[in-house]
Amino acid sequence: VAKDSGKRAYRVFSPDMDKRVADYVWLNTNLRKGLEEKELVLHYQPRLCTRTSAVVGAEALLRWNSPERGQIAPAEFIPYAEESGLIAPLGRWVMDNAAEQAARWQAQGLDLRIAVNVSPRQLVDTAITAHFEEALRKARLARCTLDIELTESCLIENEAAAISLIKEFRKLGAEVHLDDFGSGYSSLSQLARIPFDAIKLDRSFITAIDVNPRSQVVVRSMVAVAQELNVEVLAEGVETPAEEDFLKAAGVDCVQGYLYGKPMPAAEFEAWLAGRRRLRLIA
Ligand code: C2E
Ligand code: MG
Ligand code: MG
Ligand code: MG
Repeated sequence: VAKDSGKRAYRVFSPDMDKRVADYVWLNTNLRKGLEEKELVLHYQPRLCTRTSAVVGAEALLRWNSPERGQIAPAEFIPYAEESGLIAPLGRWVMDNAAEQAARWQAQGLDLRIAVNVSPRQLVDTAITAHFEEALRKARLARCTLDIELTESCLIENEAAAISLIKEFRKLGAEVHLDDFGSGYSSLSQLARIPFDAIKLDRSFITAIDVNPRSQVVVRSMVAVAQELNVEVLAEGVETPAEEDFLKAAGVDCVQGYLYGKPMPAAEFEAWLAGRRRLRLIA
């Protein structure tokens, strides 16, 4: 279109759009290659139980170490992967790798659950639960210690189909968590209809919650509803002790955030965990 209408139309491209087009072209040639050439890696961010302060699990977060551009955050390539369809093989890779890591941690006697992010486009493929089952089997897991994080946008398009996939994941031993809860389109009514094991409060509520009375009211209400429904409450993006204090007092079950640890490669996560355990022995 821009080409046909000549100079005038060309002006509608902002430098920003130029960059996006250039990124798209670059991703188009490089992301598939990156996946094949093992440039992708999962990092693990610890999740703690507020009651015991024990590390109970980790969220697997995708990183891309591009030889050309360095480390690339998921926000920069997941949307492209969703648009291009590459999210299907990418998502399978994530499940396979998380399952292998779960098996290694089980073998080390570590009692950790691993949460895997699944994006809306992945749920379109109903074979996803079959692949999940296969990932568990291939990794020879004694029991399923993987959980699934879904965002609410997963549920809008075809709620009935999403519910049946959620039930299948749960039958396979995964807990299903509603990610970024309270942001976007999530509604409390979804919680009533859809069998989640936990909600994960969005970071936008957590940031400075200790000094934000309005967010406090909202979070307390969400916790109350979740408790009535027997759904656990997790909080992401906890950065300060004051935020943690509020969340504990409000009845949040698990916390995750830079206050405890950033997402780390598996080996670094293990060292971090070992260091923590040593400190607690001394204390
Ligand atoms: P998410 O699932 O909501 O993940 C939480 C994001 O918050 C992560 O960003 C994490 O690094 C960041 N975070 C954690 N604690 C803190 C904190 O205390 N402060 C701040 N400022 N940020 C914190 P990340 O790793 O860049 O991931 C962004 C999003 O990309 C994720 O949001 C998730 O939606 C998506 N994503 C990541 N890995 C995967 C994957 O394997 N598959 C799919 N489909 N999506 C993924
Ligand atoms: Mg998540
Ligand atoms: Mg989240
Ligand atoms: Mg988030």
